[in-house]
Amino acid sequence: MNVQTLMVVGAGQMGSGIAQVAAQAGLAVILNDLKQEFVERGLATIVKNLSRSVEKGKITAEEKEAVLGRITLSTDLSDGRKADFVVEAVTENMAIKTEIFRKLDDVCPPHTVLASNTSSLPITEIAAVTKRPEKVIGMHFMNPVPVMKLVEVIRGLQTADEVYQLVEDLSKRMGKVPVSVNDFPGFVSNRVLMPMINEAIYCVYEGVATPEAIDEVMKLGMNHPMGPLTLADFIGLDTCLYIMEVLYEGFGDSKYRPCPLLRKYVKAGWLGRKSGRGFYVYN
Ligand code: NAD
Repeated sequence: MNVQTLMVVGAGQMGSGIAQVAAQAGLAVILNDLKQEFVERGLATIVKNLSRSVEKGKITAEEKEAVLGRITLSTDLSDGRKADFVVEAVTENMAIKTEIFRKLDDVCPPHTVLASNTSSLPITEIAAVTKRPEKVIGMHFMNPVPVMKLVEVIRGLQTADEVYQLVEDLSKRMGKVPVSVNDFPGFVSNRVLMPMINEAIYCVYEGVATPEAIDEVMKLGMNHPMGPLTLADFIGLDTCLYIMEVLYEGFGDSKYRPCPLLRKYVKAGWLGRKSGRGFYVYN
């Protein structure tokens, strides 16, 4: 199948980025969210990103207009009937995602592939609510989508090989590097990253070092571009806690227990950059 029309459900941080790279790859894009103001906010982010690329001379003003011309806005999930491929990028919540997949399965043509950008939820379980589990797959982009090269492609238990191949080709068409991963809690990215972040939080909790010192050790000593606590604040501490819970529950292994300090910060509303306070204070 040659994917021509791609729908993105959820026009937030990730969804707007996915819509942008898809439109830049020449695809017709339908950007969907619950309300008009949400899709407009998503589009405004895309306009801002593309304008910056024009200023930097990476693309021309004509190219920017052509990319924007390929994006249409939608607040009706039944627009999925026009899509060859759907990427779901809504809030990380199983009940919300399964509801969307059930509905998409009803409205989309039989050939349409349904992908989820979930960071941690089981693809096999999402696929099971549809009548096309072989056409359901994980397509995990990294944040910020226009910048980061990786797409972690997660095969559910029943994902067909042709569907995997299609996603691999589509990722490359979008300028990304796909990497194949099987469906286990946290996939690879968050299974390796989150316990490291959690351990860095334990170092703060146990008074081993200050957040600044921990980040400095990992930046200068391990050549990480960003320290783990700066990264945690960037991702959002609520998201970090949520993913640790998924790992802890999914493996039933105490090595994944979330640090009590992480729980405390999330309960206090210290969610990192987005709330103005996490391990660091933001203006
Ligand atoms: P976000 O909060 O910025 O955006 C989520 C969007 O989904 C919101 O605009 C919300 O209105 C919309 N939404 C909620 N319910 C909906 C529905 N029923 N129909 C249509 N739209 C709906 O969140 P985000 O950071 O963009 O994350 C989205 C997904 O991407 C999550 O699954 C998350 O785990 C995953 N992800 C996030 C990151 C990251 O660093 N933020 C990285 C990789 C993957």
